[in-house]
Amino acid sequence: MTTLSPLPSTTPALGTPGNLLQLVRSGHARSRSDLARITGLAPSTVGLRVNDLLRLGVLTETGTGAHGGRKARHLKVDGRSGIVAAVDIGASHVRVAIADLAGNVLSDEQRSSELIDADPGITVDRLWSEIEAMAATVGREMSSLRGLAVGIPAPVSQPDGRIVSPAFMPSWNQVRLADWFALHTSVPVHVENDANLYAIAECPAGGDLHEAHVLAVKLGTRIGSGIISAGVVHRGFNGAAGEISHTRASGEASIPCSCSVPNCLESVASGGALVARLRQSGRTIADTAELVQLGADGDPQVVEVLREAGREIGAALSAFVNFFNPHDVVLGGTMSNSGPLVAALRAELFRTCLPLVTEDLDVRSARIDTGLASMGGLRLALDSVLHPHRVDQLVGESETGGAR
Ligand SMILES: [Zn+2]
Repeated sequence: MTTLSPLPSTTPALGTPGNLLQLVRSGHARSRSDLARITGLAPSTVGLRVNDLLRLGVLTETGTGAHGGRKARHLKVDGRSGIVAAVDIGASHVRVAIADLAGNVLSDEQRSSELIDADPGITVDRLWSEIEAMAATVGREMSSLRGLAVGIPAPVSQPDGRIVSPAFMPSWNQVRLADWFALHTSVPVHVENDANLYAIAECPAGGDLHEAHVLAVKLGTRIGSGIISAGVVHRGFNGAAGEISHTRASGEASIPCSCSVPNCLESVASGGALVARLRQSGRTIADTAELVQLGADGDPQVVEVLREAGREIGAALSAFVNFFNPHDVVLGGTMSNSGPLVAALRAELFRTCLPLVTEDLDVRSARIDTGLASMGGLRLALDSVLHPHRVDQLVGESETGGAR
């Protein structure tokens, strides 16, 4: 079973209940004595705050282990205390996933893209039914849902979660999906660009902030990217950060693009552009998956088109990699399975980036093969639901007799 860890955090160990829970979630603390040692709090204070978290139901104490001659019990996030859900909406797919609050992924499955309708209300009704059905399958009540994240292959204005000029579904322009989900649930709903969710999914766990600089690039029918800087998603001023796909490329466009940039990277080197280019030359190619397969089979014309796209993408990326200095460049999406494309991209990147930037640079494939954005969505929802400030607020409310 996949288990999701929180993103590395710069949150200081202040010793509030929410901070203590974060230390347990991130694996830094496994017992009350770990918590006392890390925070410098008196064991009696740690005991009181752990009791708050046990009472809230988010923490559980299990098992026994030898510790200093006495039996020490282990602290864990209580997976039974709730669930979060994620929906990843793609141009040709929908994924739905559910995890418990301990980060255990209970289910992550592809659903028919026919769930997506030009009417966002109809779409949300259908997606909600899918989440309900999945919750029932894994034996969880919908009343235990604590948060939801939705990935969209389009720019999403933040913090209001408005979808802006979506090429995949033009009628959703300016739509706030959270408003439609609010007809079904009162839990927080995060709508996020899918490449950002993908970057969140690929950010290393374990709290190593030094390595938590990630540029995730989704190479599919379209091109998108997400940025994690020191463990935090970099969304920019209003959510548009990472839209590298509309950078001007040197080649000729094969498809039109909604941006007004002539020969943008997406119109030149995306999977959709390559399929269109080959069709224009008389080839019959169904989709990007077939394109990648033909490249793997050594079709000379396809291999050359893939190599040229790799060079174009590598050239565009090198400017961003020099600028941002990531530790990881993660390549995902169907086109990232193309050997000729990735080899050309890597060669161009290492040829044109500063030596200091490439010294420890890891250009790698996605670690999680399937449902990347859905995994990122679950991680985002978990980090939001179990955010130290929110947990502290819940503890405060439970002490004053307020509702959860
Ligand atoms: Zn464009």
